[in-house]
Amino acid sequence: MSFSKVVGEEDLRKTLRKIDGRRYGAYKKLKRVVLNYDFGEAMLTRIQGDPYAPPSVIEVTVPPTSHRIPSRFFDEKCLTPLLDYLARIAYRRSLRLKEKCGTGNSGYIGVPRPSPRIIRRSSVDSSGRNLIFRIFIGLPARGRRILGMKAEELLLWKIPELIRSTLSQPSLDDLEAHVNTYLDQEYVRGWLYENDYVAFIGDGSILPRESSYSVKPLKNAVPMKAPSGLRARIRLPSGRTIEGMAIPRGFIVITGGGYHGKTTLLEAIQEGVYDHVRGDGRELAVSRSKTVHVKAEDGRLIFHVDVSSFIGDLPGGGRTEDFSSYDASGSTSMAASISEAIEAGAEVLLIDEDTSATNMLYKDDVMTRIIRREPIKPLCMQGKSMVERCGIGVIAVAGASSSLISIADRVILMESYLPKDVTTSARSMAPPPPKLEEYEPPKRRVFYGVKGLRKIKVMGFKLVASYDDGGRFELDLSDNPRIVEKAQAKMIAHVIMSLRKPADPIFVDELAEHVNESFRDKGFEAFVKPVPPDLASVDGLDVVWALNRLRNSSFSQ
Ligand code: ADP
Ligand code: MG
Repeated sequence: MSFSKVVGEEDLRKTLRKIDGRRYGAYKKLKRVVLNYDFGEAMLTRIQGDPYAPPSVIEVTVPPTSHRIPSRFFDEKCLTPLLDYLARIAYRRSLRLKEKCGTGNSGYIGVPRPSPRIIRRSSVDSSGRNLIFRIFIGLPARGRRILGMKAEELLLWKIPELIRSTLSQPSLDDLEAHVNTYLDQEYVRGWLYENDYVAFIGDGSILPRESSYSVKPLKNAVPMKAPSGLRARIRLPSGRTIEGMAIPRGFIVITGGGYHGKTTLLEAIQEGVYDHVRGDGRELAVSRSKTVHVKAEDGRLIFHVDVSSFIGDLPGGGRTEDFSSYDASGSTSMAASISEAIEAGAEVLLIDEDTSATNMLYKDDVMTRIIRREPIKPLCMQGKSMVERCGIGVIAVAGASSSLISIADRVILMESYLPKDVTTSARSMAPPPPKLEEYEPPKRRVFYGVKGLRKIKVMGFKLVASYDDGGRFELDLSDNPRIVEKAQAKMIAHVIMSLRKPADPIFVDELAEHVNESFRDKGFEAFVKPVPPDLASVDGLDVVWALNRLRNSSFSQ
């Protein structure tokens, strides 16, 4: 057993002066050294091998006597917005303090950039009432020679400065406002469940973004205004009373002309699984947490999924109760995504004509007569039964065909970016409903692990998995709109690595819950130790989403 050595700032200074000019490997002397700052302790939990390698990691623990944040912010319900708030300040401070010197990553200070969603991140974490900061640092060198003075500046001035200034910056009022924004959104989400709604979009919300690659609100956008038929009023815990559009659980169709804001509304409903910061425009757009966009994904992998409710016997005798594919078609991939989402516990399915296999959505009368051997029973036949049997909501964007309107509980027409409730008139114009069919929920599957998975590299939102057999496989997580920060992609990679050889097989629906429970109990450490600074929380549902599409994932019914 090796003991940690506790050193004060003076001792560290001496060590750094001693190793100045020596080979880079001498930085390893800092391993297991606990550095005593006047406000807390720090440790290097990762020491890079050379200045070009991915940076080192310093973990700083600040006790309540130093950070002086009132204890009520550490209550379970306030902790996420508190840590999120500090991560935003720490990120901004890191931009000011990082300064390139020497070669490679020397002098780097990295706190991953938070997106406008209020979530847990490993960069600012807690343990009891201690705050934990995890920061990437590039230990300075010129060539392969240690720059001791620069290391001194980094470890004894810049890092303490980053922590001190992060902790001295919050005005309690501003922090309180941030926490209240979060609590209001959490309250609205609870209100949805209590009142059998699936989503709420407050009046005045700004839904569109500046561009498809920006998270900033579009300037001069038309603010949301609820139509009278769907208007609801909520009194928030912060004291404000808000009004907006409440979408009931049921089969909901959003329709409207091209470019009138249908997809933007659907995307905002998807985003509503997260709480947003003030000024984002979507801080009053809230949805149930397990809202999942399902779509056609040509070419994806499918493992033993029961798609028989949508697709009957395939030509050539393929079994659809237990369907696997290495190259799924548009319709089978969409059917699989729906079955998987329901299996994993989705509460709301979002469907957009733009990203669907249309033969999964509807079929008109004439086509029914022409095509006699059709294995597909589209959503227009089963959507209603699906809502009833699974207790979920479905929100479908359809502008091209009326067949979903005939089964819709509500029809929302988007006109110049504003919703109208046209349920009654649309229904009176819709064709008679098609032959309705019972929806059969998919058979449950068991997960056994990922065969031969050696490691996963993460590049942006892309997972690159490599296997013992030499195989490589790429999975782009940006195809899942619930995954919104690169740190979540990193997190999913770690969770998958921790699950690749489970002790016992586990039902897929329990797997998602197991991931969430482990995170609730142990935080990031449940999946990786030491914890790197660039992780963010994910729902177990999204881990399952990735496993469902990953080469060598092993499932059976
Ligand atoms: P649809 O799906 O109906 O074809 P989109 O939702 O894709 O339409 O929206 C079309 C365009 O209009 C997008 O560029 C989007 O950013 C913009 N847009 C959406 N909502 C608004 C709004 N409320 N105000 C201004 N522009 C908007
Ligand atoms: Mg669209």
